[in-house]
Amino acid sequence: MQTAEIVAIGSELLTPTKTDTNSLWLTELLNEIGIEVKLKTIVGDDEMRLEETLRDALDRSDIVITTGGLGPTEDDITRRVTARALELKLEFREDLLEDLRERFRSFGYEMPEKNRQQAFVIEGAEVLPNPNGSAAGMMAEKGGKILAVLPGPPRESRPMFVNHVLPRLRESAGTISVRRRSIMVSGLGESKLDELIAPIYTQYSNPVTATLFSRTEVEVQLTATAPTSEKADALNAELTEQISEKLGIAVFSTNGETMEEVVGRLLKERGETLATAESCTGGLVGERITEIPGASEYFLEGVITYSNEAKTRLLGVPADLISANGAVSAQVAEAMARGARERAETDYAVSITGIAGPEGGTGEKPVGTVFVGYAGPDETMSMRFNLPGDRHLIRWRASQAALDLLRRQILKRG
Ligand code: ATP
Repeated sequence: MQTAEIVAIGSELLTPTKTDTNSLWLTELLNEIGIEVKLKTIVGDDEMRLEETLRDALDRSDIVITTGGLGPTEDDITRRVTARALELKLEFREDLLEDLRERFRSFGYEMPEKNRQQAFVIEGAEVLPNPNGSAAGMMAEKGGKILAVLPGPPRESRPMFVNHVLPRLRESAGTISVRRRSIMVSGLGESKLDELIAPIYTQYSNPVTATLFSRTEVEVQLTATAPTSEKADALNAELTEQISEKLGIAVFSTNGETMEEVVGRLLKERGETLATAESCTGGLVGERITEIPGASEYFLEGVITYSNEAKTRLLGVPADLISANGAVSAQVAEAMARGARERAETDYAVSITGIAGPEGGTGEKPVGTVFVGYAGPDETMSMRFNLPGDRHLIRWRASQAALDLLRRQILKRG
């Protein structure tokens, strides 16, 4: 398998406000044709460090792709430094200069002299046209290595890569396809999940399995390699089936669907409706549900009842139930769900009441205590969660718990 590395160039990418996103789609496209990305580097506009990075990259990888630093200003060093790293000269291309002049003319300007340096390219390199900007790219080959030099802005570099670099790389990569598939899991902790599925995935060296515990979701990611994408997909499908069978209802999607999409699809398929009643999540469940186009078919209403008084007035939660059990309690969560379902006349309602923090926790109910209520045609019930994280995460995890409870209840009804 051929190996690639990506060098993102530009000091702005080393500031807290700018992220290198080029390497993400580059990696995706490279993986699709069976090229593995072994390393990504971000280098500022520093000639010495860039040259060092490029020389090392060309030493250890078959393919090196750079983005950025092809502009006309002094800090655009990519052109001369890539040439130096390859130990090749820059050559002046009259035709490129003419193209540049013409480009400026078409916008009604004279080309500034500064742009002249964009007409220099690495000797012998293929020039990659840039219909979306002034900086042409380059693709050079030396000693069996390929170096592709792309501009920084994604709207310029992506089409250039897809149209001019990818076909060349596909040729040299031969016929290998790498495909990914994600199994999304909810309601299982890290060690429990691994205990269940490790005996299965360790039987396979292809696909490779990685379990990713992001801040908000658990994803079992399979990566299969095969001569064709169909064969790679088939390898992923086989392992997906085995893992899904083992995990059962804890798997909420194997095809890229989000939790809110799954819930929306289930409701739509059944022609059933939903209402929500939220306290500490302030409408987040409603927001996530209505993010999905067509949600009006199944989502009728959501209320945010932050105060005790609102819980009583808008949902009919008895005031003495609140004073006897506290607003954050199983009894209140269930009464909220029941009230929302009755008032909205829906098939289902979910509710959330909890302590998102950072203040308001007690010994008995610390920050992160969340009760999720459910009311449906057959039963009303609730679950208590002790969610870790800061306010933002607790709120998000509470919304996920509510959607997941609803999903499980709908599936349980058959
Ligand atoms: P041009 O001269 O056409 O602007 P350039 O190659 O000089 O191209 P840069 O000046 O390095 O490009 O970057 C221009 C802009 O492109 C940056 O401000 C940034 O918004 C975006 N950009 C650069 N590198 C990346 C990257 N790795 N990921 C995402 N965006 C990037």
